[in-house]
Amino acid sequence: MQIAKDTVVEFHYTVFEGENQLESSKDGAPLAYLHGHESMLPGLEKALDNKSADDSFSVELEAKDAYGPRHDNAVQRIPLKHLQGAKVWKPGMTALVHTDQGQRQVTIIKVGRFNADCDLNHPFAGKDLKFDVEVVSVRAATSEELSHGHVHGAGGCGH
Ligand SMILES: [Zn+2]
Repeated sequence: MQIAKDTVVEFHYTVFEGENQLESSKDGAPLAYLHGHESMLPGLEKALDNKSADDSFSVELEAKDAYGPRHDNAVQRIPLKHLQGAKVWKPGMTALVHTDQGQRQVTIIKVGRFNADCDLNHPFAGKDLKFDVEVVSVRAATSEELSHGHVHGAGGCGH
């Protein structure tokens, strides 16, 4: 089966900036997403189009086609209780924050007693990236997944 709109794709990826490996999914489970529903980086989704299970390829994305430019002055003070991902925070760590626009990743700059100064830029903002991709599986989405607009695991999505 080929990757097309309304298929559920699982793939492993390793991201590089130049020679420098930034992140890899290979430490854990592959990433799963619903193709054609704007839940994936557009440049990456385009490169995945028409690929099949066991295909592997590399794609280079300029910053503007990946996580966008870095914004200066994107620092915000956020209550520690709103940061997810760790119990103790240190500068340089990344945290997840829920916002009106959905979940976003922030980088801790300075930690106080109740609040942390966080850089709201995505950690990969401003970087030209190369993705090494291995397609693990492709299947048709269920009607429930299509109506929710996201992938469900073995036990559904719990809502
Ligand atoms: Zn759901």
